Amino acid sequence: MLCSARADNTDMMDEIFIEGLKIYGYHGVYPQEEARWQNFVLSVRLFLSLQQAGLTDDLTKSISYEEVCLFLKEEFNKERHQLIETVAERLAAALFKKYESLCALELRVAKPEAPIAVDFKNVSVCISRKRHIVYLSYGANEGDCPTQIEGGFKRIDEDPCCGVIKKTQPLITTPYGGVAQQDFYNGAAKIWTLYEPHELLKFLHDVEASQGLDRSKKTHWGPRALDLDILFYDDIVLDDEELTIPHPDMGNRDFVMKPLAELAPFYRHPLTKKTVAMMAAAPMEEHIVS
Ligand code: ADP
Ligand code: MG
Repeated sequence: MLCSARADNTDMMDEIFIEGLKIYGYHGVYPQEEARWQNFVLSVRLFLSLQQAGLTDDLTKSISYEEVCLFLKEEFNKERHQLIETVAERLAAALFKKYESLCALELRVAKPEAPIAVDFKNVSVCISRKRHIVYLSYGANEGDCPTQIEGGFKRIDEDPCCGVIKKTQPLITTPYGGVAQQDFYNGAAKIWTLYEPHELLKFLHDVEASQGLDRSKKTHWGPRALDLDILFYDDIVLDDEELTIPHPDMGNRDFVMKPLAELAPFYRHPLTKKTVAMMAAAPMEEHIVS
């Protein structure tokens, strides 16, 4: 079962706590640390609902802490990193990929034998990450649209910090805006991500570019190999020079609202509080959110 709880307040969430997992490794800024392996100590809090497991006494409804320990041990030395920050980031992402019921986590990587020329007890970093749920719209009207769309979503799914949950089949529509061009292939998708909104936008721009989109030539409403827009990101409201969430134009675009209503009819717009189904059913002029 995919994580369904809101991870904003992990104080209120069930957790599995693994403390003091010792792993021998070779990470460090100094080259000699590659040969001189040392002890690292991991502690991890996994936030997820444990109610079903508790009610049914069934391990498959939880996450096996034994499996997590063995997985972390195996992942730990797959690649050498200079920073324990990087080690923590990679391990966190690997856990979210492996366990879809995981909503959030807190991971500490300690390096008690770090080569520091003074006496010290311990050094560690601790990161907190959560699985964000994002609705995207996709569009393409230049080149081999179905292949570019598939290629874009494959990249999203292969990224260590994202995954595709569901996506609609493309709707083929005549373009809005009156510029003469090929038909548009449009749809929506539900993905998860560990990226914060601006990082996600940057990543989506890379995905667009990987499918042939040249942003320097892109014109508003003009032809595009792949366009990926962020419609909703959890239920945040954000507006700056780079990013507006929820997407301000989505209510005006039938080719966005129809596919979105297939994926998330009961999702409420965080500003208007209308459900997507209500927005998709109402006349377009009612949705203009300025
Ligand atoms: P559109 O999708 O509106 O046809 P573009 O894809 O060219 O146009 O987007 C232009 C810019 O819009 C992007 O570079 C980005 O900085 C900005 N933008 C603002 N809000 C969003 C959002 N929610 N999703 C995607 N891009 C956004
Ligand atoms: Mg766009």
